[in-house]
Amino acid sequence: MTDDDAPLPAGDFSVWLRGMQGALRGEVDSVVPCGSCTACCTSSQFVHIGPDELDTLAHIPAELLFPAPRMPRGNVVLGYDEKGHCPMLADGGCSIYEHRPRTCRTYDCRIFPAAGVEPGDDHDDKAAIARRARRWRFDVAGDVDETRHDAVRAAARYVTERRGDLPEAAVPTTPTQAAVLAVRIHGAFLRSDDDTGRSIVVDPEPDAIRVVLSPRRR
Ligand code: SF4
Repeated sequence: MTDDDAPLPAGDFSVWLRGMQGALRGEVDSVVPCGSCTACCTSSQFVHIGPDELDTLAHIPAELLFPAPRMPRGNVVLGYDEKGHCPMLADGGCSIYEHRPRTCRTYDCRIFPAAGVEPGDDHDDKAAIARRARRWRFDVAGDVDETRHDAVRAAARYVTERRGDLPEAAVPTTPTQAAVLAVRIHGAFLRSDDDTGRSIVVDPEPDAIRVVLSPRRR
C-alpha cells in the first residue's frame, strides 16, 4: 500500500451525516479534510451556479459560464479547461475560495463511501475522486449509527435500481446526484421496530419517497 491509497479517517458517521444534511439544506458549508487534494477541482466537473448566487457570479468571468441544461433560465454552469481543471483553480487552490459556488461549498467526496456509490472508475475522468473516496473510513459507533449507515446505502440502491419509481425531476443523472439523493431520502428507509423499539431498515413504498421529495419537505 502506498501513501496515495492509505486509509483516511472520515470521522464519526452520524456527525458527518448531520453535517451533510445541513449542507444540503444550505445551512452550513461542508468541512472536508482535503489536505492537498484537489481531485474534485481537476476532474472535468460542471459546477452549477444558481441565479441567487450573486456574489459568486460577480467573481467569475461571464465568458466561463453557460446556461445549465434542463434548468430554468438564470441557472448556469462553470465548465473546465482542456485538462479537465476548473478555470478558477490557480496555484493548487481555489482563486475565489471565499466566493465559491454553493455546489463547491456542499461538495464532500465522503458521500460516495457513505452511500456505497462509485463516483467513477479507474479509467474515466473521475478516477482521482474515486481513488480518494475509496480511502475514507467512517467510525460507525453502535447499532444506531450502523442502521443509519445501512439506510443510506439502501436508499442509494433504491435510487439506482428503481429509477422508474422516482418522480421524474428527481431521477439522478450522475453518481453524485444519486449519492446526494440517498442522503436526502434515507429517513424513509428507517422505522422503529414494534417489538424492540429499535430502528430497522425497511423497503419503503414509492409514495413514502415522493412525500420526502415533495417541495413542502425540502
Ligand atoms: S476530492 Fe474530496 S478530498 Fe479531494 S478536494 Fe474534493 S472533496 Fe476534498
